[in-house]
Formats: sequence, structure tokens, C-alpha cells
Amino acid sequence: MVLLIQRKNELSQLLRKKGYKITSQRKAVLDVVIENDGEHLSSQEIYELVKKKHPDVGIATIYRTLPVLEELGFVYAVDLEDGCIRYELNRVDQLHRHHHLLCERCGKVTEVKDDLLDEIEAKIYKNYGFTIKDHRVKFYGICAECQRKAL
Ligand SMILES: [Zn+2]
Ligand SMILES: [Zn+2]
Repeated sequence: MVLLIQRKNELSQLLRKKGYKITSQRKAVLDVVIENDGEHLSSQEIYELVKKKHPDVGIATIYRTLPVLEELGFVYAVDLEDGCIRYELNRVDQLHRHHHLLCERCGKVTEVKDDLLDEIEAKIYKNYGFTIKDHRVKFYGICAECQRKAL
């Protein structure tokens, strides 16, 4: 809850600074993303959730608002190259972006919390002198649930 209020205040300040109008729609979209922290929602899913509280908001507004929130650093667009852009909250306490597991059968996205790449990054630095600042790793496969169902 504290996070919610804090982020909303930050949003208002940032929007004003960048010359954007602070509309209730923009706030409503951010609310949904904050309330669903840990989820990876598509524009359509965000729209369905916003609509519950703000029936007047149209899908075009959602499509316009998400890139603005992304530009301001509040959300991340996650492109798992399956034809569906998903959005998630940008957690400021996070050093690295986490990794994603995408189930090819049900489309479920799971987050990998551990940073598995520390060792690889150290190796790359050692062998190539290249300092890695971030990485994006996507794993494609079949989730545990779908494997169970297939039995
Ligand atoms: Zn699955
Ligand atoms: Zn994620």
C-alpha cells in the first residue's frame, strides 16, 4: 500500500516534469500494474482490469498510456516474441531484470528470481574485458502444469 501511494506520487511529479497531463486514466493504468506486481499482463488484460473500476476508459487509451509509463520508467515491456507484449512493474530495488520462463502450451510466464548469470558475466569480463550492465534471458518450454496434464 505504501508502495502504491509512493509510486503514484512519483508518477504525478514525473508526468508534470515531462509535460504530460496527469489524467485519471494514466493513474488507473499504473494502479493496475502496481496491484498486479509479479504478473505479466498484456494490454488487453490491463484494459479488462482498468475497465472494472473505470468503465469509461477505452482500449485506445490503454495502448497510448503504456508506452508513456514505459518511457517514464514505471513499467517494463516484456517481449517474449510470441506476438504478445506484456507489461510488468519496474521494481526499483531490482539490480537486474529477472529472467522469464514462457510456456509454449498455455502461455504462462514465470519469473526466475535467482540471478543465474553472475558466473557467466564474470567469465565474459575475464575473457573479453566486457562489463555487462544488464541482460535479457528468455527460456521457452513447457510448464510443470502442462507437463502433468499431458500425462
Ligand atoms: Zn503451461
Ligand atoms: Zn517479469
